[in-house]
Amino acid sequence: MSELKTKIGLEIHVQLATKSKMFCRCDNNAEKREPNTVVCPVCLGLPGTLPVTNKEAVTLTLKAGLAFNCTINDIAKFDRKHYFYPDLPKGYQISQYDEPFCSGGFLEICGRKIRLNRIHLEEDAGKLIHSNNKSLVDLNRAGTPLMEIVTEPDIESPLEAGEFLRKLQKIVKDVAKVSEASMEKGHLRCDANISVNDGDKMSEIVELKNINSFRFMEKALAIEDARLKEEYPNWLSKTKVTRGYDSKKNETYPQRTKEEAADYRYFPEPDLPPFKMNEFNLDALMSDLGEDEESKIENLKNLGMSEIEAKSLISNTKKFIFFNQLKDAIDKASIPMLGKAIVNNYFSSISELNDKIIIELVKAIEALAKNTISKGQFIEISKQIIDQSKTFEEILSDIGGKDIDLDKMIEKVLSSNQNEVKAYKSGKKQLFGFLMGAVMREGQGNIDPQIASKMLTDKLLKE
Ligand code: ZN
Ligand code: MN
Repeated sequence: MSELKTKIGLEIHVQLATKSKMFCRCDNNAEKREPNTVVCPVCLGLPGTLPVTNKEAVTLTLKAGLAFNCTINDIAKFDRKHYFYPDLPKGYQISQYDEPFCSGGFLEICGRKIRLNRIHLEEDAGKLIHSNNKSLVDLNRAGTPLMEIVTEPDIESPLEAGEFLRKLQKIVKDVAKVSEASMEKGHLRCDANISVNDGDKMSEIVELKNINSFRFMEKALAIEDARLKEEYPNWLSKTKVTRGYDSKKNETYPQRTKEEAADYRYFPEPDLPPFKMNEFNLDALMSDLGEDEESKIENLKNLGMSEIEAKSLISNTKKFIFFNQLKDAIDKASIPMLGKAIVNNYFSSISELNDKIIIELVKAIEALAKNTISKGQFIEISKQIIDQSKTFEEILSDIGGKDIDLDKMIEKVLSSNQNEVKAYKSGKKQLFGFLMGAVMREGQGNIDPQIASKMLTDKLLKE
Protein backbone atom coordinates (compact mmCIF):
# COMPACT_ATOMS: atom_id res chain seq x y z
CA MET A 1 0.00 0.00 0.00
CA SER A 2 1.35 3.45 -0.85
CA GLU A 3 1.69 5.98 1.91
CA LEU A 4 -1.47 7.96 2.70
CA LYS A 5 -1.10 11.71 3.22
CA THR A 6 -3.57 14.02 4.95
CA LYS A 7 -4.28 17.56 3.76
CA ILE A 8 -6.20 20.03 5.88
CA GLY A 9 -7.26 23.59 5.08
CA LEU A 10 -8.98 25.96 7.51
CA GLU A 11 -11.34 28.92 7.24
CA ILE A 12 -11.47 31.03 10.35
CA HIS A 13 -13.98 33.80 10.99
CA VAL A 14 -12.72 36.41 13.46
CA GLN A 15 -15.07 38.98 14.99
CA LEU A 16 -13.28 42.34 14.94
CA ALA A 17 -13.20 44.50 18.07
CA THR A 18 -14.51 47.70 16.50
CA LYS A 19 -16.75 50.19 18.31
CA SER A 20 -19.57 50.05 15.80
CA LYS A 21 -20.84 47.53 13.27
CA MET A 22 -19.51 47.04 9.73
CA PHE A 23 -21.86 49.31 7.77
CA CYS A 24 -23.90 51.24 10.37
CA ARG A 25 -23.43 53.03 13.69
CA CYS A 26 -24.95 50.33 15.92
CA ASP A 27 -22.86 49.25 18.90
CA ASN A 28 -20.67 46.29 17.97
CA ASN A 29 -20.83 44.94 21.50
CA ALA A 30 -24.26 43.43 22.14
CA GLU A 31 -23.21 41.34 25.10
CA LYS A 32 -26.02 41.02 27.66
CA ARG A 33 -28.37 43.14 25.54
CA GLU A 34 -31.97 42.10 24.86
CA PRO A 35 -32.50 40.41 21.47
CA ASN A 36 -33.14 42.79 18.55
CA THR A 37 -32.34 45.97 20.51
CA VAL A 38 -28.93 46.71 18.97
CA VAL A 39 -30.25 47.18 15.43
CA CYS A 40 -31.07 49.93 12.92
CA PRO A 41 -32.64 50.06 9.42
CA VAL A 42 -29.21 49.38 7.81
CA CYS A 43 -28.33 46.19 9.68
CA LEU A 44 -31.96 45.07 9.59
CA GLY A 45 -31.65 45.24 5.80
CA LEU A 46 -34.67 47.49 5.30
CA PRO A 47 -35.26 48.64 1.70
CA GLY A 48 -33.83 52.03 0.77
CA THR A 49 -31.03 52.09 3.32
CA LEU A 50 -27.38 52.62 2.35
CA PRO A 51 -24.33 51.02 3.95
CA VAL A 52 -21.32 53.15 4.97
CA THR A 53 -18.02 51.32 5.49
CA ASN A 54 -16.56 51.37 9.01
CA LYS A 55 -12.98 52.40 8.27
CA GLU A 56 -11.75 50.97 11.56
CA ALA A 57 -12.80 47.48 10.45
CA VAL A 58 -10.77 47.88 7.24
CA THR A 59 -7.78 49.15 9.22
CA LEU A 60 -7.91 46.16 11.57
CA THR A 61 -8.12 43.75 8.62
CA LEU A 62 -5.03 45.35 7.07
CA LYS A 63 -3.21 45.10 10.40
CA ALA A 64 -4.03 41.41 10.60
CA GLY A 65 -2.80 41.04 7.00
CA LEU A 66 0.53 42.57 7.98
CA ALA A 67 0.78 40.34 11.05
CA PHE A 68 0.26 37.27 8.83
CA ASN A 69 2.78 38.41 6.20
CA CYS A 70 0.11 38.94 3.53
CA THR A 71 0.30 41.07 0.42
CA ILE A 72 -1.96 44.09 0.91
CA ASN A 73 -3.73 44.53 -2.41
CA ASP A 74 -3.66 47.96 -4.08
CA ILE A 75 -7.34 47.76 -4.88
CA ALA A 76 -10.08 45.97 -2.98
CA LYS A 77 -13.87 45.96 -3.17
CA PHE A 78 -16.97 44.53 -1.53
CA ASP A 79 -19.32 42.09 -3.29
CA ARG A 80 -22.77 40.75 -2.58
CA LYS A 81 -23.00 37.04 -1.78
CA HIS A 82 -26.58 35.88 -2.23
CA TYR A 83 -28.31 33.21 -0.24
CA PHE A 84 -31.56 32.86 1.63
CA TYR A 85 -31.71 32.17 5.35
CA PRO A 86 -33.96 33.62 8.07
CA ASP A 87 -31.01 35.19 9.93
CA LEU A 88 -30.08 37.24 6.83
CA PRO A 89 -32.90 39.73 6.15
CA LYS A 90 -31.21 41.37 3.14
CA GLY A 91 -31.00 38.05 1.26
CA TYR A 92 -27.32 38.66 0.65
CA GLN A 93 -24.21 39.13 2.72
CA ILE A 94 -21.75 41.93 1.91
CA SER A 95 -18.45 40.10 1.56
CA GLN A 96 -15.43 40.11 -0.77
CA TYR A 97 -15.12 37.84 -3.79
CA ASP A 98 -12.25 38.36 -6.22
CA GLU A 99 -10.60 41.46 -4.77
CA PRO A 100 -10.06 40.94 -1.03
CA PHE A 101 -7.93 43.28 1.11
CA CYS A 102 -5.15 40.74 1.71
CA SER A 103 -3.73 37.89 -0.39
CA GLY A 104 -1.14 35.21 0.34
CA GLY A 105 0.79 35.33 3.61
CA PHE A 106 1.72 32.56 5.98
CA LEU A 107 1.89 31.45 9.60
CA GLU A 108 4.80 29.39 10.84
CA ILE A 109 4.15 26.48 13.19
CA CYS A 110 6.72 23.93 14.34
CA GLY A 111 9.22 25.43 11.87
CA ARG A 112 6.88 24.91 8.91
CA LYS A 113 5.14 27.63 6.92
CA ILE A 114 1.38 27.18 6.49
CA ARG A 115 0.38 29.36 3.54
CA LEU A 116 -2.66 31.61 3.68
CA ASN A 117 -4.79 32.05 0.60
CA ARG A 118 -6.41 35.33 1.61
CA ILE A 119 -7.95 37.48 4.34
CA HIS A 120 -11.18 39.25 3.52
CA LEU A 121 -13.74 41.31 5.35
CA GLU A 122 -17.50 40.71 5.52
CA GLU A 123 -20.54 41.24 7.75
CA ASP A 124 -21.97 38.64 10.12
CA ALA A 125 -25.57 37.39 9.97
CA GLY A 126 -27.99 37.25 12.91
CA LYS A 127 -28.52 34.28 15.20
CA LEU A 128 -31.29 31.69 15.12
CA ILE A 129 -32.41 30.32 18.46
CA HIS A 130 -34.39 27.07 18.37
CA SER A 131 -36.61 26.26 21.35
CA ASN A 132 -39.98 24.53 21.95
CA ASN A 133 -40.39 23.68 18.27
CA LYS A 134 -40.07 27.34 17.42
CA SER A 135 -37.25 29.23 15.80
CA LEU A 136 -36.54 32.78 16.93
CA VAL A 137 -34.19 35.25 15.33
CA ASP A 138 -31.93 37.75 17.09
CA LEU A 139 -30.42 40.32 14.74
CA ASN A 140 -28.11 42.02 17.28
CA ARG A 141 -25.17 40.25 15.64
CA ALA A 142 -26.24 41.10 12.06
CA GLY A 143 -23.73 43.49 10.52
CA THR A 144 -20.89 42.72 12.96
CA PRO A 145 -17.54 42.96 11.15
CA LEU A 146 -16.04 39.55 10.46
CA MET A 147 -12.60 38.93 9.09
CA GLU A 148 -12.25 35.62 7.26
CA ILE A 149 -8.82 33.99 7.11
CA VAL A 150 -8.50 31.19 4.54
CA THR A 151 -5.48 28.86 4.51
CA GLU A 152 -4.10 26.69 1.74
CA PRO A 153 -4.47 22.94 2.48
CA ASP A 154 -0.94 22.81 3.92
CA ILE A 155 -1.77 21.35 7.33
CA GLU A 156 -0.78 17.70 7.59
CA SER A 157 -2.51 16.37 10.71
CA PRO A 158 -5.40 17.12 13.07
CA LEU A 159 -2.90 17.95 15.84
CA GLU A 160 -1.15 20.43 13.59
CA ALA A 161 -4.54 22.05 12.87
CA GLY A 162 -5.02 22.57 16.62
CA GLU A 163 -1.53 24.04 16.91
CA PHE A 164 -2.26 26.39 14.00
CA LEU A 165 -5.52 27.61 15.54
CA ARG A 166 -3.97 28.31 18.92
CA LYS A 167 -1.14 30.30 17.34
CA LEU A 168 -3.58 32.18 15.11
CA GLN A 169 -5.66 33.10 18.16
CA LYS A 170 -2.57 34.59 19.87
CA ILE A 171 -1.65 36.59 16.80
CA VAL A 172 -5.07 38.18 16.25
CA LYS A 173 -5.24 38.99 19.96
CA ASP A 174 -1.69 40.00 20.93
CA VAL A 175 0.15 40.89 17.73
CA ALA A 176 -2.46 42.41 15.42
CA LYS A 177 -4.66 43.27 18.43
CA VAL A 178 -7.79 43.21 16.26
CA SER A 179 -10.08 40.94 18.29
CA GLU A 180 -10.65 39.72 21.82
CA ALA A 181 -10.52 36.29 20.15
CA SER A 182 -12.63 34.61 22.82
CA MET A 183 -13.91 31.19 21.74
CA GLU A 184 -16.63 31.16 24.41
CA LYS A 185 -18.06 34.43 23.14
CA GLY A 186 -17.94 33.16 19.56
CA HIS A 187 -15.35 35.69 18.39
CA LEU A 188 -13.52 32.89 16.59
CA ARG A 189 -15.35 30.32 14.47
CA CYS A 190 -13.65 27.72 12.38
CA ASP A 191 -14.53 25.48 9.42
CA ALA A 192 -12.10 22.87 8.15
CA ASN A 193 -11.72 20.72 5.08
CA ILE A 194 -9.79 17.48 5.08
CA SER A 195 -8.83 14.98 2.40
CA VAL A 196 -6.47 12.03 2.13
CA ASN A 197 -4.43 11.01 -0.91
CA ASP A 198 -1.93 8.32 -1.88
CA GLY A 199 -0.03 10.63 -4.22
CA ASP A 200 -2.23 9.56 -7.11
CA LYS A 201 -5.82 9.00 -6.06
CA MET A 202 -7.57 11.47 -3.76
CA SER A 203 -10.48 11.00 -1.36
CA GLU A 204 -13.54 13.24 -1.28
CA ILE A 205 -12.99 16.54 0.55
CA VAL A 206 -14.88 16.49 3.85
CA GLU A 207 -15.91 19.86 5.13
CA LEU A 208 -16.47 20.20 8.88
CA LYS A 209 -18.65 23.17 9.77
CA ASN A 210 -19.57 25.22 12.81
CA ILE A 211 -17.37 23.54 15.38
CA ASN A 212 -17.07 25.74 18.42
CA SER A 213 -13.80 24.76 20.08
CA PHE A 214 -10.27 23.99 18.96
CA ARG A 215 -10.32 20.68 20.84
CA PHE A 216 -13.56 19.60 19.16
CA MET A 217 -12.11 20.61 15.81
CA GLU A 218 -9.04 18.46 16.49
CA LYS A 219 -11.26 15.52 17.49
CA ALA A 220 -13.59 15.83 14.50
CA LEU A 221 -10.61 16.03 12.13
CA ALA A 222 -9.06 12.97 13.78
CA ILE A 223 -12.30 11.00 13.23
CA GLU A 224 -12.44 11.97 9.54
CA ASP A 225 -8.73 11.36 9.06
CA ALA A 226 -9.09 7.82 10.44
CA ARG A 227 -12.29 7.15 8.49
CA LEU A 228 -10.87 8.25 5.13
CA LYS A 229 -7.72 6.20 5.67
CA GLU A 230 -9.77 3.14 6.61
CA GLU A 231 -12.03 3.45 3.56
CA TYR A 232 -9.05 3.63 1.20
CA PRO A 233 -9.17 2.98 -1.73
CA ASN A 234 -12.99 2.91 -1.84
CA TRP A 235 -13.54 6.62 -1.61
CA LEU A 236 -16.71 8.42 -2.74
CA SER A 237 -16.71 9.66 -6.29
CA LYS A 238 -18.28 12.91 -5.07
CA THR A 239 -15.77 15.69 -4.63
CA LYS A 240 -17.15 17.46 -1.59
CA VAL A 241 -19.30 16.46 1.40
CA THR A 242 -20.22 18.40 4.54
CA ARG A 243 -20.30 16.90 8.01
CA GLY A 244 -21.06 18.22 11.48
CA TYR A 245 -19.68 17.08 14.83
CA ASP A 246 -21.57 15.88 17.91
CA SER A 247 -19.31 16.57 20.87
CA LYS A 248 -21.43 14.49 23.30
CA LYS A 249 -21.15 11.33 21.19
CA ASN A 250 -17.75 12.28 19.72
CA GLU A 251 -19.12 11.45 16.27
CA THR A 252 -19.38 13.23 12.95
CA TYR A 253 -22.59 13.12 10.88
CA PRO A 254 -23.52 14.11 7.31
CA GLN A 255 -25.02 17.55 6.61
CA ARG A 256 -26.49 19.28 3.55
CA THR A 257 -24.12 19.43 0.59
CA LYS A 258 -22.30 22.69 0.09
CA GLU A 259 -23.35 25.08 -2.65
CA GLU A 260 -20.67 25.77 -5.23
CA ALA A 261 -19.32 29.31 -5.39
CA ALA A 262 -21.38 30.08 -8.50
CA ASP A 263 -24.61 29.47 -6.59
CA TYR A 264 -24.03 32.61 -4.55
CA ARG A 265 -24.35 34.84 -7.67
CA TYR A 266 -21.61 37.20 -6.48
CA PHE A 267 -21.59 40.69 -7.96
CA PRO A 268 -19.89 43.96 -6.93
CA GLU A 269 -21.70 45.84 -4.14
CA PRO A 270 -23.08 48.85 -6.04
CA ASP A 271 -23.55 50.99 -2.92
CA LEU A 272 -19.88 50.96 -1.85
CA PRO A 273 -16.99 52.34 -3.92
CA PRO A 274 -13.79 50.24 -4.21
CA PHE A 275 -10.84 51.02 -1.92
CA LYS A 276 -7.43 52.31 -2.97
CA MET A 277 -4.75 51.23 -0.56
CA ASN A 278 -2.88 54.55 -0.67
CA GLU A 279 -5.68 55.91 1.53
CA PHE A 280 -4.19 53.88 4.39
CA ASN A 281 -0.90 54.41 6.22
CA LEU A 282 0.48 50.87 6.21
CA ASP A 283 3.80 51.89 7.82
CA ALA A 284 1.97 53.21 10.86
CA LEU A 285 -0.09 50.02 11.07
CA MET A 286 3.07 47.92 10.80
CA SER A 287 4.81 49.75 13.63
CA ASP A 288 1.74 49.25 15.80
CA LEU A 289 1.99 45.44 15.67
CA GLY A 290 2.79 43.76 18.97
CA GLU A 291 4.55 40.53 19.80
CA ASP A 292 2.93 37.29 20.85
CA GLU A 293 3.63 35.92 24.31
CA GLU A 294 6.01 33.19 23.19
CA SER A 295 8.27 35.57 21.29
CA LYS A 296 8.15 38.07 24.17
CA ILE A 297 9.42 35.38 26.56
CA GLU A 298 12.00 34.20 24.02
CA ASN A 299 13.31 37.77 23.58
CA LEU A 300 13.60 38.31 27.33
CA LYS A 301 15.47 35.04 27.70
CA ASN A 302 17.85 36.13 24.95
CA LEU A 303 18.53 39.24 27.03
CA GLY A 304 19.63 36.99 29.88
CA MET A 305 16.48 36.75 32.00
CA SER A 306 15.32 33.44 33.46
CA GLU A 307 12.13 31.88 32.06
CA ILE A 308 10.31 32.32 35.39
CA GLU A 309 11.20 36.00 35.61
CA ALA A 310 10.36 36.57 31.95
CA LYS A 311 6.91 34.99 32.39
CA SER A 312 6.28 36.94 35.56
CA LEU A 313 7.30 40.18 33.86
CA ILE A 314 5.02 39.86 30.84
CA SER A 315 2.06 38.73 32.95
CA ASN A 316 1.93 42.23 34.46
CA THR A 317 1.37 44.86 31.77
CA LYS A 318 2.34 47.79 34.03
CA LYS A 319 5.61 46.15 34.99
CA PHE A 320 6.33 45.18 31.39
CA ILE A 321 5.84 48.76 30.19
CA PHE A 322 8.06 49.98 33.04
CA PHE A 323 10.73 47.49 31.97
CA ASN A 324 10.54 48.63 28.35
CA GLN A 325 10.89 52.29 29.36
CA LEU A 326 14.25 51.51 30.97
CA LYS A 327 15.51 48.64 28.85
CA ASP A 328 16.85 50.63 25.90
CA ALA A 329 18.69 53.14 28.08
CA ILE A 330 20.57 50.56 30.09
CA ASP A 331 23.80 48.74 29.28
CA LYS A 332 23.06 45.26 28.00
CA ALA A 333 24.80 43.36 30.78
CA SER A 334 22.53 45.02 33.35
CA ILE A 335 19.21 44.09 31.70
CA PRO A 336 18.76 40.80 33.63
CA MET A 337 19.19 42.77 36.88
CA LEU A 338 16.59 45.30 35.70
CA GLY A 339 14.10 42.47 35.10
CA LYS A 340 14.90 40.89 38.42
CA ALA A 341 14.51 44.19 40.28
CA ILE A 342 11.08 44.81 38.72
CA VAL A 343 9.78 41.27 39.19
CA ASN A 344 10.94 41.15 42.83
CA ASN A 345 9.49 44.56 43.69
CA TYR A 346 12.72 46.46 44.41
CA PHE A 347 10.96 49.57 43.09
CA SER A 348 8.67 51.46 45.46
CA SER A 349 6.32 52.31 42.61
CA ILE A 350 5.82 51.22 39.02
CA SER A 351 4.81 54.31 37.11
CA GLU A 352 5.40 56.31 33.97
CA LEU A 353 8.92 57.74 33.92
CA ASN A 354 10.32 60.98 32.52
CA ASP A 355 13.73 61.22 30.84
CA LYS A 356 15.50 62.61 33.90
CA ILE A 357 14.28 59.82 36.18
CA ILE A 358 15.22 57.21 33.57
CA ILE A 359 18.82 58.51 33.45
CA GLU A 360 19.16 58.30 37.24
CA LEU A 361 17.47 54.90 37.57
CA VAL A 362 19.74 53.50 34.88
CA LYS A 363 22.79 54.51 36.97
CA ALA A 364 21.29 52.82 40.03
CA ILE A 365 20.49 49.58 38.22
CA GLU A 366 23.93 49.40 36.63
CA ALA A 367 25.50 49.97 40.03
CA LEU A 368 23.38 47.17 41.50
CA ALA A 369 24.28 44.84 38.65
CA LYS A 370 27.99 45.58 39.19
CA ASN A 371 27.41 45.07 42.87
CA THR A 372 28.79 48.45 43.88
CA ILE A 373 25.59 49.10 45.82
CA SER A 374 23.54 46.62 47.83
CA LYS A 375 19.95 45.58 47.26
CA GLY A 376 18.90 47.55 50.34
CA GLN A 377 20.68 50.63 49.05
CA PHE A 378 19.11 50.23 45.64
CA ILE A 379 15.62 50.13 47.12
CA GLU A 380 16.28 53.36 49.02
CA ILE A 381 18.01 55.10 46.11
CA SER A 382 15.37 54.21 43.50
CA LYS A 383 12.62 55.36 45.85
CA GLN A 384 14.26 58.78 46.29
CA ILE A 385 14.93 59.08 42.56
CA ILE A 386 11.28 58.44 41.73
CA ASP A 387 9.67 60.34 44.63
CA GLN A 388 12.06 63.26 45.05
CA SER A 389 13.69 63.58 41.61
CA LYS A 390 17.17 63.54 43.20
CA THR A 391 20.22 62.33 41.31
CA PHE A 392 21.84 58.98 41.94
CA GLU A 393 25.08 60.62 43.17
CA GLU A 394 23.26 62.94 45.60
CA ILE A 395 21.42 60.08 47.24
CA LEU A 396 24.45 57.82 47.33
CA SER A 397 26.54 60.45 49.14
CA ASP A 398 23.65 60.99 51.62
CA ILE A 399 23.41 57.31 52.51
CA GLY A 400 27.03 56.58 51.62
CA GLY A 401 28.11 55.34 55.06
CA LYS A 402 26.16 52.14 54.69
CA ASP A 403 27.95 51.10 51.51
CA ILE A 404 28.94 47.49 51.35
CA ASP A 405 31.52 45.71 49.29
CA LEU A 406 30.45 42.15 48.64
CA ASP A 407 33.89 41.21 47.38
CA LYS A 408 35.55 42.32 50.64
CA MET A 409 32.85 40.64 52.72
CA ILE A 410 33.36 37.29 51.07
CA GLU A 411 37.17 37.60 51.46
CA LYS A 412 36.63 38.30 55.15
CA VAL A 413 34.41 35.25 55.61
CA LEU A 414 36.86 33.02 53.76
CA SER A 415 39.89 34.18 55.75
CA SER A 416 38.17 33.78 59.10
CA ASN A 417 36.89 30.28 58.21
CA GLN A 418 40.00 28.75 56.69
CA ASN A 419 39.44 25.28 58.16
CA GLU A 420 35.98 25.06 56.64
CA VAL A 421 37.30 26.28 53.29
CA LYS A 422 39.95 23.54 53.34
CA ALA A 423 37.41 20.87 54.26
CA TYR A 424 35.08 22.13 51.49
CA LYS A 425 37.86 21.83 48.94
CA SER A 426 38.73 18.31 50.05
CA GLY A 427 35.17 17.24 49.31
CA LYS A 428 32.84 18.33 52.13
CA LYS A 429 30.54 20.19 49.72
CA GLN A 430 27.81 20.61 52.32
CA LEU A 431 29.97 23.30 53.95
CA PHE A 432 28.97 25.65 51.15
CA GLY A 433 25.76 26.32 53.04
CA PHE A 434 27.72 27.21 56.17
CA LEU A 435 29.96 29.65 54.29
CA MET A 436 27.00 31.15 52.47
CA GLY A 437 25.25 31.64 55.80
CA ALA A 438 28.28 33.50 57.13
CA VAL A 439 28.32 35.76 54.07
CA MET A 440 24.62 36.55 54.44
CA ARG A 441 25.07 37.38 58.14
CA GLU A 442 27.95 39.66 57.22
CA GLY A 443 25.72 41.45 54.71
CA GLN A 444 22.98 42.12 57.31
CA GLY A 445 20.19 41.73 54.78
CA ASN A 446 21.74 44.10 52.27
CA ILE A 447 23.02 41.59 49.77
CA ASP A 448 21.45 39.60 47.01
CA PRO A 449 21.80 35.88 47.83
CA GLN A 450 21.93 34.87 44.16
CA ILE A 451 24.83 37.21 43.39
CA ALA A 452 26.60 36.36 46.65
CA SER A 453 26.26 32.65 45.98
CA LYS A 454 27.70 33.01 42.50
CA MET A 455 30.62 35.13 43.74
CA LEU A 456 31.32 32.71 46.59
CA THR A 457 31.36 29.77 44.17
CA ASP A 458 33.78 31.61 41.86
CA LYS A 459 36.10 32.48 44.72
CA LEU A 460 36.13 28.95 46.14
CA LEU A 461 37.02 27.60 42.70
CA LYS A 462 39.83 30.10 42.25
CA GLU A 463 41.49 29.79 45.65
ZN1 ZN B 1 -27.26 48.88 12.60
MN1 MN C 1 -17.44 33.90 5.48
